[in-house]
Amino acid sequence: MADRPSYMPYGGLPVSLPRPSPWTAEFPDRELEGRFRSERSRGMRGTFLVVLALILAMLGALVSLDLSRLEAEWLSLALGLRGIFAVMLVAAAVSVWRWPERLLTVAPLTGIGVTLLTLALTFVYGLEHSNPALDVSQFAFVGVVFVLLLPNTGRWRWGLTVVLLLATWGVVLGSAAGAEEAEARLAGLFVSFVLLALLAIAHREDTLRHWQFAAMDRLVRMSTTDPLTGVANRRGFFDAAEAARHRTRLEEEPLTVVLLDLDHFKGVNDRHGHAVGDEVLRRVARVLGDALKPGETLARLGGEEFGVLLPGVPLERAEKRAQGLRSEVEALCVQSGNAVVRMTASVGVAAWMPEESIDAVLARADLGMYEAKAEGRNCVRVQADDAA
Ligand code: GH3
Ligand code: MG
Ligand code: MG
Repeated sequence: MADRPSYMPYGGLPVSLPRPSPWTAEFPDRELEGRFRSERSRGMRGTFLVVLALILAMLGALVSLDLSRLEAEWLSLALGLRGIFAVMLVAAAVSVWRWPERLLTVAPLTGIGVTLLTLALTFVYGLEHSNPALDVSQFAFVGVVFVLLLPNTGRWRWGLTVVLLLATWGVVLGSAAGAEEAEARLAGLFVSFVLLALLAIAHREDTLRHWQFAAMDRLVRMSTTDPLTGVANRRGFFDAAEAARHRTRLEEEPLTVVLLDLDHFKGVNDRHGHAVGDEVLRRVARVLGDALKPGETLARLGGEEFGVLLPGVPLERAEKRAQGLRSEVEALCVQSGNAVVRMTASVGVAAWMPEESIDAVLARADLGMYEAKAEGRNCVRVQADDAA
């Protein structure tokens, strides 16, 4: 249980999941990490826009303050810099809204820009003219965007928090003496607290989301994979079939279903034992899987029966592919202990008609398979649709 996270929502699941590191909540699996990030970015779009709206409102408040206290020579510079600020934030909001997967590129760049501009504003138009408490509090807002919204970016989060803390205290310590100094330090303390609290909340939230995402991924894999062979199970086949049907319909492409049943498999179990039978099933799944092209699906539909989805393959070509699969099985020689097992398979092929249900096309492929059995096994039979 060492790899179980200590935090288990809903009482946990009867599976062990990888525990996120205390520094980054990243997944060891890059593909899973990628999916997690883009899904989280999509989920955070609304929040991100609300935060940006708040920042823009704050910029508006700062501009009105600038108007009341800055002399003309500083005013245009201050307004110009704040204008750039606002444009950057709006551009970031629009780009994240249109392409949420870009959040990870856009948000850090915007944050660095906003931090540099805030420092420039404070130091360029003179500390004596600025209000350090207000300038410093901008960092808290920038922190919200980065620290809380950036998904699973441990290194970025820690790095940016340090940069923001340094920038905050740069402004505070460089501020004018007197009454404003005490005010600036108080603001500095407050902003530091906000940034560190955000860091802790964000990390906690990602750890929780990480756990939920990993659990969901694990459950989906478990429920759609055949544990013996590692290929899709019946449920996985039905899911893949629906997805393939949707795609091929949109692209007006054919979709063919192949059913393959091992011949006299019961005899293998009877002669060599169940363990050898299992090994044969694993090897058959492997050679069939190796014979498929990207986008095609292999599933173990039950017992010693396999289903194959061939999107984009018309019936004539599917028959040739099915012959290829059949001869792969025939060529296979499984050695397990003293046993040497050779197999053949009977194969049915049917094209999935546009208005047909998956059960109907499977039933026709099944008819083809039974025809192949009846005609001596180790052969392929195509079932044309009734309308053809
Ligand atoms: P046919 O040529 O008519 O298909 O004959 P068959 O013996 O292959 O068909 P039948 O349906 O009578 O037998 C299928 C056998 O597959 C029965 C069962 O023992 C075996 N089987 C089903 N699932 C498994 C499994 O997970 N492991 C093993 N080792 N055998 C299995
Ligand atoms: Mg059989
Ligand atoms: Mg069977």
